[in-house]
Amino acid sequence: MKTHIPSHDAHQDMREALRSMFAGFDSAYWQKVDHERGYPEKFVNALTEAGWLAALIPAEYGGSGLGLAEASVIMEEINFAGGNAGACHGQMYNMGTLLRHGSDAQKKLYLPKIASGELRLQSMAVTEPTTGTDTTKIKTTAVKQGDRYVVNGQKVWISRIQHSDLMILLARTTPLAEVKRKSEGMSIFIVNLKDAIGQGMAVQPIANMVNHETNEVFFDNLEIPAENLIGEEGKGFKYILDGLNAERTLIAAECIGDAYWFLDKARHYASERVVFNRPIGQNQGVQFPMAEAYIETEAANLMRFKACALFDAGQPCGAEANMAKYLAAKASWEAANMCMQTHGGFGFACEYDVERKFRETRLYQVAPISTNLILSYVAEHVLGLPRSF
Ligand SMILES: Cc1cc2nc3c(=O)[nH]c(=O)nc-3n(C[C@H](O)[C@H](O)[C@H](O)COP(=O)(O)OP(=O)(O)OC[C@H]3O[C@@H](n4cnc5c(N)ncnc54)[C@H](O)[C@@H]3O)c2cc1C
Repeated sequence: MKTHIPSHDAHQDMREALRSMFAGFDSAYWQKVDHERGYPEKFVNALTEAGWLAALIPAEYGGSGLGLAEASVIMEEINFAGGNAGACHGQMYNMGTLLRHGSDAQKKLYLPKIASGELRLQSMAVTEPTTGTDTTKIKTTAVKQGDRYVVNGQKVWISRIQHSDLMILLARTTPLAEVKRKSEGMSIFIVNLKDAIGQGMAVQPIANMVNHETNEVFFDNLEIPAENLIGEEGKGFKYILDGLNAERTLIAAECIGDAYWFLDKARHYASERVVFNRPIGQNQGVQFPMAEAYIETEAANLMRFKACALFDAGQPCGAEANMAKYLAAKASWEAANMCMQTHGGFGFACEYDVERKFRETRLYQVAPISTNLILSYVAEHVLGLPRSF
């Protein structure tokens, strides 16, 4: 039986190269990292050194200048190999904000070091405890004082800070009451974490269901040099939105990698496990959920490549990126449930690794965007229904 269910595609050479590298990071490696609540440092270093995390950085800044389709294959293959791209996906896409909206000086300063891995830009701080998904209501403020901005406020669920050198921060620079549109008056900054932590920025890890390093962040008169403002003051929200299509599509690819992992695991187990004198996979009650999960994964995969093709051609792809994320997160979660059920009691045993991937893939229904917000995007922006918020 083939080990990878999907048929060959245009990225086969790249997939083979990734798989041979990932062979050194097997299920036991990821289980150990999960068990220890550690960080897959060795894996992330290997991925960085091989240049894969710099896929989207143009060659002039030391990256490989690949398209979103190729970048998405990298994320998919990490999760298909049993890994968790959530440990490092920020390094691939957070720099997009800098690339699109940063000054020449900022790009020259940061991008080559991000490409080489000398600097990690793994973190982006948007979410706040009291405003949640309603981002335009954020309360963190950055007030310009001479050649600095002074930041006060709080963020929550900010990932990978302890494994990052830099963080992109969204803060309000003009009070909500003073702007014409609620989406105006916010700005983004690049924060040098080594300068900031302990000097006006405090970080409190949040223990959570998956091995995902994420934190509460408190700002108390944190000073950021004015030159760390990215783009124009007041346009930060738009800049964040500009990066979402790439992020959604890459995350969709991670879900697809998970879904194929669950399918592969389940079909092997169902062929080998004998109960009532026959493999459990001979029962249609076991086969059909697997077939259904496969069909849904393939459909999600088509939408993911449609989003990639549009993005790489410079065409609008908001609808496709959102729909790919929706379909893929749903497919991976249904594949996870199917895989757990197929394994019966053994699905709960850590040794089989199903329960870890089950926990990990559940997150995609909520972060980085919850399913309801995607449905709302499609309802209002694609179907033209009245705005609900
Ligand atoms: C492990 C993890 C890592 C994360 N990493 C980061 C990070 O690095 N940076 C960052 O900025 N954020 C991060 N987040 C935050 C994440 O993006 C948010 O949790 C997510 O966007 C949902 O926001 P919330 O938790 O405040 O939920 P809420 O906004 O409180 O929503 C709760 C529920 O209500 C639903 N809901 C809310 N409003 C509506 C509506 N109008 N219509 C229908 N349903 C609605 C939502 O869909 C959701 O299911 C992370 C979260 C987690 C769990």
